[in-house]
Amino acid sequence: MASENWVKFEIPSDTRNVAFARTAVALFASQLDWTLDELEDIKVAVSEAVSNSVIHGYQLQEGIVYVEASYQDQQLTIVIEDFGQGIPDIEQAQEAGYTTIPEERMGLGFTFMHEYMDKVLVESQVQKGTKVTLIKQVPPRSEG
Ligand code: ATP
Ligand code: MG
Repeated sequence: MASENWVKFEIPSDTRNVAFARTAVALFASQLDWTLDELEDIKVAVSEAVSNSVIHGYQLQEGIVYVEASYQDQQLTIVIEDFGQGIPDIEQAQEAGYTTIPEERMGLGFTFMHEYMDKVLVESQVQKGTKVTLIKQVPPRSEG
């Protein structure tokens, strides 16, 4: 079996498409040897990142969210990118409980991404957009 593979797709910014992105990435990721719990974690992280692009990046307006998933050997990399609003303070945005919509949101999306993935990289520029890279390695399994 090939030790590397990738998929790439784009979706209109619409909350209905979050479930598609989550499931499509999970289906691709399941080519690697995850436990069901790990696969659930990956789904949550993807959901959070795609929701953020729709809700914050494009503020529920028109836009396109770009999703790429790939793996090499046992390392999965997922990239979610929008060309929306951008994030003025990337560190602050990732603090647990920080949200710019306190009436509606918990401010926990990035916290979940950090908890469920090995590595989360956030690149963003105001008025240009945001790119979130999620990396997770299949943990070594003890035999038998
Ligand atoms: P929750 O995820 O719990 O519903 P939230 O989306 O506000 O709440 P996070 O996902 O942790 O919390 O994001 C924190 C903040 O970072 C958001 O409130 C928003 O201001 C900013 N942010 C996150 N992603 C983006 C994005 N793609 N574009 C613009 N701003 C973003
Ligand atoms: Mg969020």
